[in-house]
Amino acid sequence: MIPRSFEYFAPRTLDEAVSLLQKLGPEAKILSGGQSMIPMMKLRLAAPPYIIDINHIPGLNYISELDGHLRIGALARESDLEVAPAVTSRYPILVDTTSVIADPLVRNQATVCGNLAHGDPANDHPATMLALGASLIAVGPTGEREIPVESFFTGLFTTALQPDEILKEIRVPVPSPSSGGAYLKLERKVGDYATAGVAVQINMNGGGVCKRAGIGLTNVGLSPLQAKKAEAFLAGKTLDQSTIKQAAELAAGEAQPIDDIRGSADYKRDLVRVLTARALNRAFERAKGGA
Ligand SMILES: Cc1cc2nc3c(=O)[nH]c(=O)nc-3n(C[C@H](O)[C@H](O)[C@H](O)COP(=O)(O)OP(=O)(O)OC[C@H]3O[C@@H](n4cnc5c(N)ncnc54)[C@H](O)[C@@H]3O)c2cc1C
Repeated sequence: MIPRSFEYFAPRTLDEAVSLLQKLGPEAKILSGGQSMIPMMKLRLAAPPYIIDINHIPGLNYISELDGHLRIGALARESDLEVAPAVTSRYPILVDTTSVIADPLVRNQATVCGNLAHGDPANDHPATMLALGASLIAVGPTGEREIPVESFFTGLFTTALQPDEILKEIRVPVPSPSSGGAYLKLERKVGDYATAGVAVQINMNGGGVCKRAGIGLTNVGLSPLQAKKAEAFLAGKTLDQSTIKQAAELAAGEAQPIDDIRGSADYKRDLVRVLTARALNRAFERAKGGA
């Protein structure tokens, strides 16, 4: 289908983009990778009268470590994440995540920030960012503010971003030594959204005790979920198979899936249990230096 007509703006600075958002009001929409926005417009699920395309703003396509954080700029694409040396060497969970998103054509355009800003519980990065304890930098009329990812996803396709704010950057804390992460997703076929997905990031002490665990869940609720009970249970525990099994059961209990074309709620809850156990084992191997 052909989208409804709209007015197109191509600002050259973030300030200009924010001013446009202020002037045009909440019906104006930011366009970054366009890989969610354009399909929704073509299906007429969205018909924004104003599109503000931020792709012409220089300096937003970066992925680099600075001052204790990996920083992912608003125009960094999924395909950039897959090959960024800082990412491939130290953040295997991000490589796990981006490589199961859609297909290479989509990943060449889709941005990591757009994946979060869209607020879709089926998207894969939200769970991973929850596990990593990321924070998000929004820029609006009064300047920048930092939003912890835990309070970013406020409901189905809604986020803590105000209508006149742009997600400028994602900040992921640089992992401490003896930490590891993994993202696992079951999809019906390559390129599909998750039937369920689980992201795990653990920080261990030298003796095999878990200091911190982050666990995020994909597509088993109205918004991306954090398995807080499982996280709390793991803190201070030795990661043996009995502990991992109990944590996986807790995470499954925290999922809020519904029956749909991808499976029954019971099936998805059990999937969360299985994927959490596997992701914890893989994250633990990586924390010990494995691949
Ligand atoms: C065939 C197909 C399969 C897909 N499969 C998957 C999948 O398996 N897993 C997955 O995670 N995703 C999947 N996606 C979605 C894809 O990753 C999207 O690109 C992503 O969700 C949105 O990123 P974008 O840069 O394309 O954003 P856009 O489509 O440009 O924007 C999406 C929304 O976010 C807002 N927005 C975007 N950037 C910003 C910003 N910087 N600040 C404020 N608001 C912003 C827009 O206004 C819009 O409302 C798929 C897409 C397609 C077309």
